[in-house]
Amino acid sequence: MIIRARTVVTMDRAPIENGAVAVSRNRIVDVGAFNDVKARNVGTHLDLGEKVLLPGLINAHCHLDYTCLCGKIPPQDSFTDWIRAINAEKSELSPKDYLASINDGFQEAKRFGTTAIANLTAFPELISQVQPPIRTCWFAELIDIRAPERVTELVDSAIDALRSSMACADISAPSKRSHSRRIAALQTPRWGLAPHAMFTASKDLFLRCEKIAQKNDILLTTHLAESPEEMEMFRDASGPLYEFIKSIGRPMNDCGNETSLGLFIGALGDRALPEWIVVHLNELTESDFDLLERSDPKFQIVHCPRSHNYFGHRPFAFERLRSLGFNVCLGTDSLASNQTLSLFDEMRHFQKNFPNISPNEILRLATVNPARALRFENALGQIRPGFRADLIALPSSGSTDVFEQIIACDAPVSWSMVNGQVYRDW
Ligand SMILES: [Zn+2]
Repeated sequence: MIIRARTVVTMDRAPIENGAVAVSRNRIVDVGAFNDVKARNVGTHLDLGEKVLLPGLINAHCHLDYTCLCGKIPPQDSFTDWIRAINAEKSELSPKDYLASINDGFQEAKRFGTTAIANLTAFPELISQVQPPIRTCWFAELIDIRAPERVTELVDSAIDALRSSMACADISAPSKRSHSRRIAALQTPRWGLAPHAMFTASKDLFLRCEKIAQKNDILLTTHLAESPEEMEMFRDASGPLYEFIKSIGRPMNDCGNETSLGLFIGALGDRALPEWIVVHLNELTESDFDLLERSDPKFQIVHCPRSHNYFGHRPFAFERLRSLGFNVCLGTDSLASNQTLSLFDEMRHFQKNFPNISPNEILRLATVNPARALRFENALGQIRPGFRADLIALPSSGSTDVFEQIIACDAPVSWSMVNGQVYRDW
């Protein structure tokens, strides 16, 4: 198939006016000026007209478990109060509610042009019952605060659930109908483990996950240095989060000396850093920046602009982290602290906070950079021959910079292609 559009934004070269992309099965095979692509390839033509064609967006951090909590938790006085509030809401939900929530979340993400997502679930046993309509890296979110003696059991059962759902996907591919084949292709064989945070996951749990990641091609992610209360807990052994977590029974002997970043790096050692996708990093001291400067290689960073705003965190140190060589991506986090799963909304919010960052670079935060963080840098996030055919098309106003037009898009995406399959008119 040859897909023509008014402008093709590849993310690896200048936008192409009157451009085209040739797709064979689920891969991009050619991209360039329409006349050139037409001359080099055979196949049916699809003219999208006055549209901008670009790579599908990639959400680097999300919890679709909590899509049903949208609007249920107003901003609280403290991060600790928010944890109490979400725990109260979660106690009312059944596995059936979580399944509906995950499926609704996938549909919303897709409606707003997301074609790949890093999704953390606290219920890896539900994955085999979900048919993701977009490319999905599943992470099992792990918390052992109430049963630290059962780390091995917790991790092993999560891995069994992840592996069996991935294996099902692979096995169903050749034999069943095309719908199953499509689902199978979207359950990426790459999955990951997500010890929730330094205050809810033990050092043993972090080390166990790290060990497994070193033996297998899997990803690791965690929430780190999110709130002032987390900083207060680890550095000063005081504050509302410290008291709350202590009341649950967590040993607090690692508190009172180091920041959470200092503990994280110290516990795991530099060798584990490239595997980690670290979410938030809102609270950093000067000594943290020294650690970050010295850490080589660097871990991956996810910033969630509107969740950040919901909690009223201090400004995110984007420019400083970027200048230290970190790969920064955008995520939506969950609808328990956000209003939509649209990465366009995230890019616009980011632009408001960082007006000096070019629209081209902002779009990279939702395409090229997350592809790299998820180790799909040779498959996703750009329109290049050999890459997967994950594409979206947006209306072209033709009046401003094409990257500005993309970031300004606030309507559902009416045309998308995921793994070579076309979807229209949401
Ligand atoms: Zn999160």
